[in-house]
Amino acid sequence: MHELSITKSMLRIIAREMKSNGVKRLKKVHIKVGELTAVEPEALRFCFEESIRSTPMEGALLEIDDVPLTGRCKACGTEFRIEAFTNICPDCGGNEIERIAGTELDIISIEAV
Ligand SMILES: [Zn+2]
Repeated sequence: MHELSITKSMLRIIAREMKSNGVKRLKKVHIKVGELTAVEPEALRFCFEESIRSTPMEGALLEIDDVPLTGRCKACGTEFRIEAFTNICPDCGGNEIERIAGTELDIISIEAV
C-alpha cells in the first residue's frame, strides 16, 4: 500500500528529527500532499494513526494540506489549476505549461516536546 510506505518513511524522518532535537513526545505533524502524488489523505491518516499506536508517538495529530495540481504558463505567466491534465493556458491558450505545485509530499513542521 502506497500510503503505508509513505507513512513509514515519514515516521523515520520524524524520529530522526526528534532525536537530533532532544524531544520525546510528538504532538503534531503538518504535511502537504500534492494532488499528483495519488495519496488518499484519509488512508494516510489511518496508516499514521495505526503506525504510532503503542509507540511514544501515540496521540500525535496529523494535519494534511491538500495541494492542487497547479501550472504556470511559460508564455504569459498565468497560474492556474490543472484539471484532467489539460495542459492549455486558460488565458492565452499557450501549451507550454510548467507544473509549479501538486507533486510534493513534504513535512512542513513537526511539533514535539
Ligand atoms: Zn498563457
